[in-house]
Amino acid sequence: MNKLSKRAEKLFIQYLRENNLKVTQERLALLEEIFESEEHLDADDLLARMKVKNRKVSRATVYRTLDLLVQCGLVRKSRLGGEHFFYEKMEPGGGHHHMVCTATGKIIEFWDAELDEMLRRICHEYKFRPSFISIQIQGLSQEGLKVEQETSFF
Ligand SMILES: [Zn+2]
Repeated sequence: MNKLSKRAEKLFIQYLRENNLKVTQERLALLEEIFESEEHLDADDLLARMKVKNRKVSRATVYRTLDLLVQCGLVRKSRLGGEHFFYEKMEPGGGHHHMVCTATGKIIEFWDAELDEMLRRICHEYKFRPSFISIQIQGLSQEGLKVEQETSFF
């Protein structure tokens, strides 16, 4: 376990105890899986990864744990293009936006300090205090553009 995972685990255990919820091996294993991954994972990905590691975790437990992780602010939940949600760890100073390729599902993360400043200025103008800023741009990546050209009739 790396430093960030350990810190996240400590916070999660604290959160579970404060809310009179059980600290279970399944819950901690799911947290670790998300924190050791650099990807955007959906519930099915997590179920599959638990299975590979011979951890018996039910679908219900995965969903419930994900909800708890989002509630306590350790995990970020985003709807990236499709119908279902993706989960990723929250990292200190790790704010970023997403570009989602509608042809391949590829996700590109980006961040721009000037853009952030501009958005915060706009919020200020509207007397709105942002707690979390997230932008999603849907379109075609380079690979997606190729796919579209190859499968198009015209
Ligand atoms: Zn992301």
